[in-house]
Amino acid sequence: TMPVGSTVPADLNPRQREAVLYLNGPCLVLAGAGSGKTRVITQKMAYLLRECGYAGRHVVALTFTNKAAREMSERLHALVDRKLSKGLMVSTFHSLGLRFLREEAQGVGLKPAFSILDATDALAIIQELLATTDKGRLRSVQQTISLWKNALLDPDRAAAGAATPEEVDAARVYRSYQATLQAYQAVDFDDLIRLPAQLLEADEDVRRRWQARVQYLLIDEYQDTNQCQYQIVRLLVGDRAMFTAVGDDDQAIYAWRGATVENLSRLEQDYANLKLIKLEQNYRSVQRILTAANNVIGKNPRIFGKTLWSELGVGEPIQVSPADDELAEAQAIGVRLSASRFERQAKWRDFAVLYRSNHQARIIEQAFRDLRIPYTISGGQSFFDKAEVRDILAYLRLVANDEDDPAFIRAVTTPRRGIGQATLQTLGQFAAERRLPMFAAVFEIGSTELLAARHYEPLRVFAAFIQKLQENRDPVPEVLDGLLAAIGYENYLFDTQEERAAQSRWQNVLELLGWLKRKATEDGLQLKELAQHVALVTMLDRGDDEEPDAVKLSTLHAAKGLEYPHVYLAGVEEGLLPHAGREEDELPGEAGELQRVQRIEEERRLMYVGITRAQRTLHLTWCRRRRRAREDVMREPSRFIKEMALDGGGKAAPEDAGVSPKQRLDMLKALLKK
Ligand code: ATP
Ligand code: MG
Repeated sequence: TMPVGSTVPADLNPRQREAVLYLNGPCLVLAGAGSGKTRVITQKMAYLLRECGYAGRHVVALTFTNKAAREMSERLHALVDRKLSKGLMVSTFHSLGLRFLREEAQGVGLKPAFSILDATDALAIIQELLATTDKGRLRSVQQTISLWKNALLDPDRAAAGAATPEEVDAARVYRSYQATLQAYQAVDFDDLIRLPAQLLEADEDVRRRWQARVQYLLIDEYQDTNQCQYQIVRLLVGDRAMFTAVGDDDQAIYAWRGATVENLSRLEQDYANLKLIKLEQNYRSVQRILTAANNVIGKNPRIFGKTLWSELGVGEPIQVSPADDELAEAQAIGVRLSASRFERQAKWRDFAVLYRSNHQARIIEQAFRDLRIPYTISGGQSFFDKAEVRDILAYLRLVANDEDDPAFIRAVTTPRRGIGQATLQTLGQFAAERRLPMFAAVFEIGSTELLAARHYEPLRVFAAFIQKLQENRDPVPEVLDGLLAAIGYENYLFDTQEERAAQSRWQNVLELLGWLKRKATEDGLQLKELAQHVALVTMLDRGDDEEPDAVKLSTLHAAKGLEYPHVYLAGVEEGLLPHAGREEDELPGEAGELQRVQRIEEERRLMYVGITRAQRTLHLTWCRRRRRAREDVMREPSRFIKEMALDGGGKAAPEDAGVSPKQRLDMLKALLKK
């Protein structure tokens, strides 16, 4: 019998319902913030499992962050019995890519135990290949390589298309970088997407197998997928095209990472039978907040215009407060937030402070500590990018995969074991000549005359130590404790740092250990599996399992998809939001103009994302003076504040140099022809 959707909950509006029930082909839900897109995905998964007889293992949902994936899993499990959802995968593109590559490693010339390089390790390799200390140049090369990868360009094609001397050089580095990754049997984050896309395209058997497996695909935050991810979607769903994508072009904030909103329009071209559903009712925010959001985003040229409305009432006026400097700003936020919490009898977790740049967090953290306001941070690499955390993880990575050279180098030198730079260089050269990982090279170099015994000995001891760990079958918690004791990490910290710093670092190590042990025990993981899990999760975002009652501090990017009753947006000033681009990244002439306009548009979408996180109240702050590189600079309120047209006040600012959507399109076309 036909599924009728009788048990689809009533708390869906007719169009959401239509999106959930639609199974005749590909479906795109295009809708503004807070209109229930994510809810549609969750409900549709439940519907597929309960009403349509889909087995869990045949349904895959893709989200943008691990946190979003966790939330979605939780919501699903509140709706559906675990037996029904068994095997169902809710994951990020990256996690899906990782799973794919573990199974299909051979097809892309990797062994199944390949390692994953995080951004910092990748940067270290590029730095070596580039032989420069110029940070700007380094970053730009890394970004260029990343964009090439995400556009599915291999080194040959990148080299062929390179126009400027910089690009030619970047293409050269790209080639050596890939060779290095291959030698290390490692992939970087971009490869987790790129390699699956390539293999799915090239290998029909693999494609068939995965198409049989993924019988229904759901994709959240579709506007931020890049070309590679689009290919994965296209190849996974095949001709049957059983998928639902939801997205909001007004919230596309990852152009700099190669995401293309064009993927939205492309769906329409690639799937003639695409069902398009629009949602406009917002269930998140009061009308004042929505009106401000509509006003701001209305300044952008848009492919699909939409106007959000809600039935949640007008709400309190949006507040804008200037402060003298960033310390005053942080303190004012803390004080107002505390007062508001008290007046409303709210919880700390009902509040979020959002900001454009990571560096804004530090002073807010400090003010909050002084005011005894509990907080958690997301979006900053705050925890897992800490040196002490990375030190310990390097050991774990090495145990899991002893061909992971960056991990080897980090571990072997931290704590220092009397192994000098010259020794390491000799070892590195020897390893490169023999095409060996450095770990394996340790054993080989012993039988040569290359290293004096006193230099060789600490290397040998280290390698033997790692080997013993690899063979250790004790429960993970014990292994970890033993490891820490054996390397004397605590002493090392206190020997090399001043007391307070050492204390706080050691605290972080203990916290890391607690987290690792819990994860290993809960999921019954072996050390190796744990390490693999850790490599992925920690680099994308932090695996917060419990949500304490604390104010959320977050970058705007990391706040995507989330909602909070009360939101403070900090640093809403020209130069910060919109962010001033880096001068060295600017193109000359017409191209530069287009680039500038597009950058402002993306910043505006970011502002829109920020405003629409708020459910009930919104408070903007900006600084008249801000410290930048040891220099005080005077600041103006962001143009976006004017654009919000609060309470009918303030006429909308003239648009970016008056470039119309049509002109913008023409400029783009002209550029493409060049
Ligand atoms: P974003 O673009 O920010 O990701 P979204 O479109 O994914 O937003 P959701 O997060 O799914 O929106 O929904 C926003 C809020 O509205 C959630 O709290 C959700 O539970 C609620 N909601 C969605 N649809 C309905 C509905 N039909 N009835 C009541 N509440 C709803
Ligand atoms: Mg959402």
